[in-house]
Amino acid sequence: MNKFSRRAFNITLTKGIAGAGILSGMPIACAFGAEKNTKKSLGVALVGLGSYSTYQLAPALQDTHYCHLAGIVTGTPEKERVWSDKYEIPKQNIYNYENFDRIAENEDIDIVYVVLPNSMHMEFSIRAAQAGKHVICEKPMAISVQECDAIINACTDAKVKLGVGYRLHSEPYTQEVKRFVSEKTFGNVTYIAADAAYRSRGNPNQWRLNKALSGGGALMNMGVYSIQSAIYGTGENPISVTAQEYSTRPDYFKDTDETVTAQFQFPGGAAGNIMTSHNANANRLFASCERGWFQLEPANNYGPLSGKSARGPLSFPHESQQKLQMDDFASHILQGTPNRAPGEMGKRDMIVVEAIYESIASGNKRVKLDLGAMGLV
Ligand code: NAD
Repeated sequence: MNKFSRRAFNITLTKGIAGAGILSGMPIACAFGAEKNTKKSLGVALVGLGSYSTYQLAPALQDTHYCHLAGIVTGTPEKERVWSDKYEIPKQNIYNYENFDRIAENEDIDIVYVVLPNSMHMEFSIRAAQAGKHVICEKPMAISVQECDAIINACTDAKVKLGVGYRLHSEPYTQEVKRFVSEKTFGNVTYIAADAAYRSRGNPNQWRLNKALSGGGALMNMGVYSIQSAIYGTGENPISVTAQEYSTRPDYFKDTDETVTAQFQFPGGAAGNIMTSHNANANRLFASCERGWFQLEPANNYGPLSGKSARGPLSFPHESQQKLQMDDFASHILQGTPNRAPGEMGKRDMIVVEAIYESIASGNKRVKLDLGAMGLV
């Protein structure tokens, strides 16, 4: 039996077992919207079938244990046939952006995963929540703090779960860094550096370079990884930020930021420096601590990541980060395990993004932040 048909068989079997009411070995039934969920594997609908859905999420969903690809939402009719053939998606589980709200009636779909350009995250996350579906929203969660609030409120009102597509929280090297920090393996972190950047050379009309669609340039795209690294690399939210912007290819980056650097102050005394760019290649996290250090490089691509510490190299087996992330979210719904990347974390990062833009706009003035423990997981 090939991989797909084995999965389809498991899913059918699950539904059959549930239907027959033979529930031994089933996960604990957990709150699911207003109802109880007794499924073993949750159906995911991907909204937006661009490169991330095509090359990462859909393949990962062939290997997940607690969720599976059950539906698609696309604005491109040709993709309906291609995806339905490749993944055996039944016609009734295929939607477009107009009829998407009818997904409310579809019991095969439990989770809607929004994988659209950033400025569309809010609309589709809210529509998904209002349809009674749990939501995973890609990063950046939205293009403003106000939009993040609107998504969080919609999910709270609809009593559905919300996760941000921060795959690294499910990834073992990153989890080891978080362990170093929480257990103070090397004492307190005194300095953190985090860079996330790639050199953009493609079509100058791509949505990532169009502010109306992206909300911003490198900072909105890769910068959230630098912010994330600085925060989980210290275990604290910054209390202030001072930021700078550089542009060397203004003809290409007409509408969005090219390179941004920012310095953070942390409440425990650590200093942080982040860099993000669409005009350089960088991918690392480095922390200096009272009694040692740790680093990841690469720190934020799809893996395998690589790292070392004052005690020697780190080594973990590689698995698809997207598989781990989606299974973690599904098991959060099914079994009540922690939500590794809740909406509050996405909102917290957008507060930092807005503070960085504010600092740049003010001529690099220090902007104070009062985040408390928001989004620290
Ligand atoms: P993409 O350009 O490859 O795909 C975008 C999709 O949105 C396409 O299917 C396109 O048809 C559709 N779309 C609908 N309306 C559109 C419009 N007005 N303009 C452009 N496209 C439109 O982008 P992607 O790389 O798949 O990114 C999608 C989202 O996923 C973004 O928010 C991005 O930040 C996020 N992402 C996250 C990761 C991660 O590692 N977590 C990686 C890549 C992308």
